[in-house]
Amino acid sequence: MKRLLTGLKPSGELTLGSLIGGIKQSVEFQNNYDSFIFVPDLHAITVPQEAYLLKERIRKNVALYLACGIDPQKNTIYLQSENVYHTNLSWILECHTYMGEANRMTQYKDKASKKEQVSVGLFTYPILMAADILLYSANFVPVGIDQKQHVELTRNIAERFNHKYGDTFTIPEPIIPKIGAKIMDLQNPTKKMSKSSGDTKGSILLLDSEEVIRKKIMSAVTDSDNKVYFDIEKKPGISNLLTIYSSLSNKSLQEVEEIFKDSNYGYLKKEVADLVVITLLEIQKKYQEYVQSGIVDEVLDHGRKTVEKIAKEKYEEVLKKLGLGRF
Ligand code: ATP
Ligand code: MG
Repeated sequence: MKRLLTGLKPSGELTLGSLIGGIKQSVEFQNNYDSFIFVPDLHAITVPQEAYLLKERIRKNVALYLACGIDPQKNTIYLQSENVYHTNLSWILECHTYMGEANRMTQYKDKASKKEQVSVGLFTYPILMAADILLYSANFVPVGIDQKQHVELTRNIAERFNHKYGDTFTIPEPIIPKIGAKIMDLQNPTKKMSKSSGDTKGSILLLDSEEVIRKKIMSAVTDSDNKVYFDIEKKPGISNLLTIYSSLSNKSLQEVEEIFKDSNYGYLKKEVADLVVITLLEIQKKYQEYVQSGIVDEVLDHGRKTVEKIAKEKYEEVLKKLGLGRF
C-alpha cells in the first residue's frame, strides 16, 4: 500500500482553509493509502508562540483531526517533537541543500517580508518538512497550492541524495485538491486564508461559533458587479465563496455556478454560511466528544511507537551511507 503523509502546524487555530486544503483530502484518501497524519509542533515555533497555547493546541488539533473524519484505525497519528529523528535528519538534509534553492522559497520571502525579526528556523523550515516526509518514505503528500514548492524542494533534495549515496529516499508527489487548493481570506480575497496571520476577521476557525461564522461570511468582501460567476481575477471574493460551497457540498464548480447564476450576493452568502455552519457544527459536536473521551493521548502514544521504529531505521540507513556513527 502506498503511503500518504500530511501535517498541519499548530501555529494558530485550524481554519476552513486547513480543512479544505489539508484534512479533507486525507479523509478522502484514508481508505486507499497507508495514511500518516501528524502535528508538526516544531514547525509552529518558526514564529513566536505562547507555550501554554501551543501545549493546548497540540491535543486540540488531534481531537479536531478525528472530528473532521480522520479515522484512528486507518491513520498513524503522532506528534513531531516526540520523535527526535525529524530534527536529526533535517540537519543532514540541510547539509545537502543549496542556499540558492532554499532562497527561492516564495513562502519564506512572503512571510519574512511582513516581519521585522525573522528566525533562521523560518528560513530552514522547508528542510525540516523534507525530513518529515522522507523519514517515512511517503509516496504522496496532500497539500494546498502554497506548499507545492516545498514538496518540490523535498524531491530535489531526495534525488540529489539518492544520486550521490545510492537509493535511499522515496521521491514523494504532492496531491493538490482540484477544488479548494487555496481558500482565500474573506476580508482580503487575494490573500490566502491563514491561521497565523494574526487577524481572524477573514478566517473561519473550525471552532468558531455559529454566530461568528455567519457574521464573517455575511461581511465577506465581494465586488459591485452583482453577478454570480467564477472568475478568480475579476471576482476573487465571489469565486472564493463558490469554491467553499463547491468543496463542502462535493459539487463541481460548474454545478455551483449554475445553482447561483440568478442569485444576488446576499443569497449566495447566506447559502454558503448555512453550509459552513452545518459542516462545522457537526465537527464541533464530535470534537467535544473526542476531547471528553481521553482518546487523544491514547492515539498519540500509539502513533509514537509506530513511527519511532520506522524513523530510526531510515535515519540509521542515512548515517551509514554518510559514514557517520559507528556502524
Ligand atoms: P500558517 O499561516 O502558520 O502557515 P497555514 O494556515 O498556512 O498556517 P499550514 O499548517 O502551513 O497552515 O498548512 C497546512 C496544510 O493546509 C497545507 O497543506 C496547506 O497547503 C493547507 N492550507 C493552509 N491554508 C490553506 C488555504 N487557505 N487553502 C487551502 N489549503 C490551505
Ligand atoms: Mg502555511
